[in-house]
This record gives sequence, C-alpha cells and structure tokens, in this order.
Amino acid sequence: MKLIELLIEYGNYSLNRPFSYVYKGNKPVDIGYRVLVNFNNKEIVGYVTSIRETNKNVEELEEELGFNISEIIDVIDSSPLLSEDLMTLADEVSEYYLASKISVLQAMLPPSLSPRRSSLKAPKIAYDQYVELAKYDEDDLTYKQIELLRLIKDNEPVKKREIKQVTILNKLLEKGLVKIKKVEKRRLVIEDYETPKKLNLTEDQNRVINEFKNSDDEVYLLEGVTGSGKSEVYLSLSEEYLNKGKSVLVLVPEISLTPMMMRNYISRFGDKVAIIHSELTPAEKYDEYRKIANGECTIVVGARSAIFAPLSNIGLIILDEEHVESYKQDTPPFYHAREVALMRGKMHNAKVLLGSATPSLESRARAGKGVYHLLRLENRINNQPLPKTTIINLSDYRNIDKESYILSIKLRELIQKALDNFNQVILLINRRGFSSSVTCRSCGYIFKCPTCQIPLTYHRSDMMLKCHHCNYVEPSVENCPNCGSKYLMRSGFGTERIEEEINKMFPEARTLRLDSDSAKIRAKIPQIVESFRRKEADILIGTQMIAKGHDFPDVTLVGVIMADIGLSLPSYRSSERVFQLITQAVGRCGRGDKKGEAIIQTYSPSHYAITMAARQDYELFYRREMESRKAQGYPPYTYLASITISGKVEETVIDNTYRIIDKLNEELGDDAVILGPTTPFVPYENSNHLRMILIKYKNVDIVRNALKKLINASSGKASISISVNIDPYNF
Ligand SMILES: [Zn+2]
Ligand SMILES: [Zn+2]
Repeated sequence: MKLIELLIEYGNYSLNRPFSYVYKGNKPVDIGYRVLVNFNNKEIVGYVTSIRETNKNVEELEEELGFNISEIIDVIDSSPLLSEDLMTLADEVSEYYLASKISVLQAMLPPSLSPRRSSLKAPKIAYDQYVELAKYDEDDLTYKQIELLRLIKDNEPVKKREIKQVTILNKLLEKGLVKIKKVEKRRLVIEDYETPKKLNLTEDQNRVINEFKNSDDEVYLLEGVTGSGKSEVYLSLSEEYLNKGKSVLVLVPEISLTPMMMRNYISRFGDKVAIIHSELTPAEKYDEYRKIANGECTIVVGARSAIFAPLSNIGLIILDEEHVESYKQDTPPFYHAREVALMRGKMHNAKVLLGSATPSLESRARAGKGVYHLLRLENRINNQPLPKTTIINLSDYRNIDKESYILSIKLRELIQKALDNFNQVILLINRRGFSSSVTCRSCGYIFKCPTCQIPLTYHRSDMMLKCHHCNYVEPSVENCPNCGSKYLMRSGFGTERIEEEINKMFPEARTLRLDSDSAKIRAKIPQIVESFRRKEADILIGTQMIAKGHDFPDVTLVGVIMADIGLSLPSYRSSERVFQLITQAVGRCGRGDKKGEAIIQTYSPSHYAITMAARQDYELFYRREMESRKAQGYPPYTYLASITISGKVEETVIDNTYRIIDKLNEELGDDAVILGPTTPFVPYENSNHLRMILIKYKNVDIVRNALKKLINASSGKASISISVNIDPYNF
C-alpha cells in the first residue's frame, strides 16, 4: 500500500499544506501525477507531492499520524505532468510570491492539465488515423477487396477518413491484412509565412550580438530605441543557441498584438516553434504543451504563461518589451514572468535577455548597478530620423479646432496632409467606448456598476453601458432611473467618440478601430492589424494596443489625443506608464522610407514624462524619475507588498484590516512603512468588500517572515480571506 501526500484546491482550503491518502490499487503513481480523491464529500482532483510504500494497514497509519485517512479513488495520469525542474521552479515561485503551491501549479499548467475537477472533461490527445498494410495476401478476397488492398499498398499510409469504402475496409481489418495507426495530431494550424528577406545585420546589431556572445554574464538588458531592430538581434541569437543544440524560450507581451515576432520565428525555424498564448483553444494549448514536453519543439514563442513551458535544456530566454505590465499576473500567485525567467535561467544555466525601448525602472536600475549587463542600440535601422514631435496644450482653447471637442487645429491639418499624400495615420486615445460616464443633469445620478461601484462607460456601437472592470453590461436607457428626467449627459470620451468625430471631419477617410472590444472575437485583432498594414484603411484609432511593436511602413503621423489619461491615476508608476505609452506610440511612425511626425495633445504640456517622451529620451526620463522614486521611497529604492483583505461583512473586513496593521507595525517596527487601510479603486469583488494595506520595505527577510505568519494565521478563517501580492503594480 502507498501512503500519498497531495495538494488540493477546495474553496478556502487552497492551503499550502498537503493532505494524506492511501492507494491500494496497482496503477503506477508517483510525484507529479493527478489523482481523484474524496474531500468533504466531494470528488476533487489532487496533485501528488510525496509518496512512500508502507506495510502498515490503514488503522495503524491513522494511529501513527493521528488523523483519519481515506483511499484515493483513482489515478488520473499515466505519466507525471511536470518535470523535476519545473517542480523545483514551482517551489521557488511559491516561496518568492508567498503563494500556495497549488495556485502556482495552476498557473503553470494549461487548463486541461491543471489540478482542477473541470480538467477531467478537458481535451485529450487528438489523433489522425492512418491505414497501413499489415500483410499482403490476396487469397480468398473479392475483387473489390483486392482493389482496395492494392490501393492501400501503393499509397500507404492512407488517412482512414479518406477511404470511402468503409465496409470493405472493415473486412480487410477483420482479416488482419491492414491495420490502423494512430498519429498524434496538432490542432493549432500554423500558417506558412513567406520567408522574409534575411536582413543584413547593421554594425550596431553586430556589436550588440558579439558583446552578448563574448560575455559570461547571466542577465542582459537590451535598451534599443524604437525601430532599432531588436527582433533581428533576438532571431540571430536564437539561431546560435539552436545550432548549439540548446532550446530557446521567447516571451512577448501578447501574441495577438505582436504577430510579427511569431511570424519571424515560424518563417525562420518552421516546425521547431511551438506557440503558447491565451487566444489558443484549450485543445490547441494541450497539443502545443505536449509537443514541447516530448522535445519535438525546441523554440517556444508565447505570452506570460509560456515562461512555464516544459522545455528542457534551455540555453536562452528572451523577454521582449520587458517593461509591459501584462507580464505580471494580476491574480494569485501574482507572479511576474521576468522574475520567473531569472529563476529559470539560473536553473538551466541559461542566459536571459530582456529587451525594450523603454525598460522598466527596476530593470534599468539593476543594469545601472551592474546586476544586469546593459546593451544599447542607439540608432534606428538605416539611420531613419526619429519623428518630429510637437506638444499641443489642450487647455489653451485657441489650439482647438472649432468643429471638434478635442482635435487641435494642428492635428487636423496634419491628418488632412497625410490623407492627401496617401499616407496612414494612427490616433491613440487611452480609453475605449464612447463616453467615460453618464450622469443625470437634473438629479446628479451617476450610472454605476452594481458590483464594482465605478462609473459605467457608454458604448455607442451596441448601445450598452459597460463596466470596464468586471465586464458587467446593461442596456443604455433614455430616462434617469432615479428621477425620470431625460437629460442624461455623456461626458469624457473614448475610441468610439474619436472615430465618430474623425468620420465626420474626414468623410473620405477609411477608419479602423482597435481596442479591447475588438478583442472579444477570436482572431479579430490580427485581422485589424493586417488590414491596416495592407492599407485597407487610412486611419487607425485605438487604445494602447496600437502602440505595441507594430511595424507599419506607411504611417507618417501619430496623434496622441490626450496624453494625460493615466497621469492622474493614483499610482507611483503613472509617470512611467505615460512615458512608455507615448514613446512607444510616437515610435510607430517614420519606420519606412517616409519621414514621421507626431502630435501629442495634453493638458500638462510641461510634465517631464510628456516632454521627455516627445524627445524619445529614455535615459533622461530614467534619471528624473529615479529622483522622484527616491524622494517618495518607491521601487526600485524599496520593495512593495500589498495585502488585500476581503469578506462579506464590511465591518468585519475593516476591523480585521486594522488588526493586521497593528500587528505588522508591532512586528516590523522601523523595518517597514505600513500604509492604509485604503479602499481599492474597485471596492467590491464577487460581492465581497475589499480593503488594502501597502507595505514598503528594504529588509526582505523580516517582512517575508511576518507575511508568512500572517497568511498562516488567517488561513481557514471563514469571515475574511487575505491575499498577498509581492511587487504589486497597482499603487
Ligand atoms: Zn435624475
Ligand atoms: Zn463592474
């Protein structure tokens, strides 16, 4: 009999401790297998973490351990799901993020393999069935049967579903003359892309590549202005490592937004490339995962979760656009792909290459201290000049076009000029929908989300009011639900409203809109991007999605409609976000042979994030922003952790929050600054009240221990639950 310890997830019991079961059956089972068990009268899936043979019977074991033990119902897998090194990685991630190991495993595995009950209904391997000859013997066969047997002999293997004479085939199978071979099928259809012209590397690129190859350092930060050809550096280095028999892991922020990277890799390395990202169906994900695990694919290109891809023998890990916030998962275990990349790199003795035009302050600071090796690409390819940039002050009414709410005279002129010259325009407005809120002019009623309590956004395209946080939707109405007045005011604007204005002002122009509403339909985003690249539209209007990594050679004008959205958000990162967004957006133009120009409209024309983004001067911004972080005691000068306390009863939540603050103050004293309680921007989640605490600290060990104690003390409590986010972003 085997005594087995396993991890489970069950409501509040997603604890970081194993539960004991016994197994008397004879299926093979080991660490890393999933098993079906009974827990609190429910069948759930457990994940085996330890196993030992025992000669004792159940009663003796219960006596020894001091609690009741039940039997495992069944073993689910026929091989372990995670390799040993991924198990070790799971331990490290769980330790660093103070997260339960089961939550880490769930983040690591594709949904169809994760230790959840629902995974049992998930996709299995798909097969193509082929018919092959078993032995050739025409004796006792009818003419029809001989005909088919010969056909198979001449064409084997033949796909079973291509054979129309099913009854005859069955006869041949019965007689043992042919047999069926099952071949694993890859459900993700990867288009054949034309092989792009292999570009000659520039002197700059060669210098960077050689510096990388000739150094023994582990982690590199490649800082390259927009349009400097970072992708070519990635491709060349990847090729090097593949030739050495190593595998390569390439992370991109979001594949649907940056199809170029995936394409470049597929066209250069073909079938060796596996793709992992959120747009894949569970079945496709499952196939890709297996292809990586069994070694058929040695390059993985994917978004955040691809950092856990079951690659072995990794030589190089690349994180493109390392500053992008989607690398941080905003649900437990709150991991950041960059941190995990560093852990994985160490385990495999692999080099890690982080790249960006606007590196995160944390990474740039580490490079400044020599923790990372700094590489720089300072010139654009072919020495294209950076776009000429003008900042327009929106608070001066004389700058605004009389027929518009928001377009400046200058921007309107330049759009017209671009259209006249058959060039393309990108307009960025960092908010989707039509208006940002709807208010009653008579009584002041504001339409709010019933769960999140934040204002609803009006979407004209489907006449709906939507919550941009939880996706709550209600139909928009004519009258105020409070006083019945029909004077409802829609204030603020988003992508839809800009599109409407543009269509009015430039009726001849063809427009496209790209925002997360477009993302609701699978494959819609790449379609829009492709269509714009093929010049099927003149103006692309969108949110920050349009600022990411695209290469549109005919874009000569980028307009940032309102650069301030974001600056006013209460976060120590807001300046950094605005700087990154504008720099990336401005970098979209002037990438072909044509010169580019950018207009930045703003209410804060002298804010350093905006003026330095206009000059594309990352280094200057970095120094200025570091000063302000230092003065305010924010990362990279300190570490942050946030604690969210949630519960059904608001009073209980508040009481507990204060209790936790007192406790932490007592325990940490001068080792940390504790801020709060604060009510988060979205104060409710799943009808739970939320409060937050922020901890700023320098001494990692002391704070970590205090947080561990706190987590242990509060686990299993029914009235509140707490979650800890290490290195949180939304503050
Ligand atoms: Zn009203
Ligand atoms: Zn909501």
